[in-house]
Amino acid sequence: MRRHTGTVQIGTLTLSSEEPVAVQSMLNTHTLDTEACVEQAIRIIEAGGQLVRITAQGVKEAENLKNIRDRLRGRGYTTPLSADIHFTPEAAMVAARYVEKVRINPGNFADKRAVFRRMEYTEESYAEELQQLREKFTAFLDVCREHRTAVRIGTNHGSLSDRILNRYGNTPEGMAEATLEYLRICRDTGFRDVVISLKSSNCRIMVTAVRLLVQAMEREGMEYPLHLGVTEAGEGEDGRIRSAAGIGCLLNEGIGDTIRVSLTEAPEREIPVARLLTDVCIPRYEQHRTTVSGTQTCPFIVADVSAEETIDEKVTAALDFRDPGEADPALGLRLSAGRKAPEMIYTEALGPEWTKLPEETIVVVPYANLDVACIYNRNASPLMTAATYKKHKTTAGRFRFVELNDVAELDAELTAALKQDKKAVAVLSSVPDYARYRSWPDLLLRSGLPELPVIIRVKPEQFEPDRTPLEIAAHTAGLFIDRLAAGLWITFPGAGNSLTALELSRNILQSVGARRYKAEFVSCPGCGRTLYNLEEAVSRVKSAFAHLDRLKIAVMGCVVNGPGEMGDADYGYVGAGNGKVNLYKGQQMVKTAVPESEAVAALEQLIRENGEWTERLVLTENDINTSVK
Ligand code: SF4
Repeated sequence: MRRHTGTVQIGTLTLSSEEPVAVQSMLNTHTLDTEACVEQAIRIIEAGGQLVRITAQGVKEAENLKNIRDRLRGRGYTTPLSADIHFTPEAAMVAARYVEKVRINPGNFADKRAVFRRMEYTEESYAEELQQLREKFTAFLDVCREHRTAVRIGTNHGSLSDRILNRYGNTPEGMAEATLEYLRICRDTGFRDVVISLKSSNCRIMVTAVRLLVQAMEREGMEYPLHLGVTEAGEGEDGRIRSAAGIGCLLNEGIGDTIRVSLTEAPEREIPVARLLTDVCIPRYEQHRTTVSGTQTCPFIVADVSAEETIDEKVTAALDFRDPGEADPALGLRLSAGRKAPEMIYTEALGPEWTKLPEETIVVVPYANLDVACIYNRNASPLMTAATYKKHKTTAGRFRFVELNDVAELDAELTAALKQDKKAVAVLSSVPDYARYRSWPDLLLRSGLPELPVIIRVKPEQFEPDRTPLEIAAHTAGLFIDRLAAGLWITFPGAGNSLTALELSRNILQSVGARRYKAEFVSCPGCGRTLYNLEEAVSRVKSAFAHLDRLKIAVMGCVVNGPGEMGDADYGYVGAGNGKVNLYKGQQMVKTAVPESEAVAALEQLIRENGEWTERLVLTENDINTSVK
């Protein structure tokens, strides 16, 4: 069941909790290039897009929306259009006459660009700004009402007004309050055709901000529908997983009436991903959900290699266990764990190779195999059903993993045994099902087991490469966003998928900011403001800096919104127009108008100057042969 929302009519599209979740995308063609806009809009519509957004950076572009709309209607496409406005309320006024919806950004509709200076606001000066905002926004709503145009109040982390920054900081609370300032005007003036979004490239911030706003709307009796999205999600697998984590978490909580998956790819490629997310999520809204926040800040991974036929050196290398080159005199030959190595391994195939695992790595085995496993690895720990755990009351094993498939298994006897056992770990096992996983933390708390570590074990019935990873990200990320789970264990059916499951676990934990296994790249999807070929720039930046696994690098299409919205990136590569790029260190612009052909080298230089450069590891053929021998 979804959160109840009122009906908003956007041309031929009806948004409400009674309608299926709508999917949409945005053009990245230049708004004055009517032909290119029309052709790209058609590609989005034919892929299944139900709303097409177009940027209108000024009045001239807003005027051209009429031509784009007329050409589309002339070719028989009735899909509604939405204008995207920043900084230019005049353009919003014009666009409202031509398209079915206008998105405004509360951070820059009535307020000037934030200057991020600490300014003191008295109650009077704060109220005065709010009054100016009310006047400007009410005039805009009047135009929308006259033309039956819907409005999206689209708040972004990174482009909040100075007024909000001053009082709330660049926080989820600030995002919610910035939105409420506008929603209260809509409510007071009886304007109902409003949709809301609160976006960030950081899934935790985006999810927290949306939940806060929903709670505030419940308190204030507001039922406006929500548009969900993770900004600057990037491209490829990482962009998809990051979007699935943030959007999927909220869809599973029954929040969201329309979604956009922002990828730095052709916009029509966003639609199947968005549709897949709406298909795999199971909305279950709880009106008075209390958002529990746990303490598990550094979750670990259990790599399930039980379906691997042999655990040879190739597999251990993929797990990121490496031969240190010399034997430890006390322990014999031991592998060492790289930064990406899983903290735990689950296996049924036991053999001498397990003696070589790093000292700290835990090997989990079925209870029946524990005695043999202990011969090869003193860190071996049993995996038991609840019934076996209660029956055998074993004290063997470094930890004791108790697999639970249903809350009913946590009876009084098991609860009492777990309370006594400081080495017990609960493994909550299920097909991907967010609500099922979520039901556990509360139950454990009520059962007097708040300290019991919880691992989420995901066991999908089948593995479909395009679907299963997104489904798992959508159903598990919320647990890690709220720091409720100590570990993630993905078991794919069939042989040969162990390493895919491991990589997915890493991607999910990285997407919610819980772990960092590789360099992180964020990039905007591009729009009519994009000042260069974004996909090519992302590809160049990724290939030059992928080995800098401690850094987060943003590639943004324009200087208007890019710097504010690249969030907490360590470095920024931002299109400045005329074949030039501006480079940022954090929020600080440090090199301007660098020719695009020199920009990657200039960014490398900047990273070197800041002492954050490491050389690429280049493996020779000899190294490879030695490592797999
Ligand atoms: S950062 Fe600029 S180019 Fe990129 S999507 Fe936002 S407005 Fe468009």
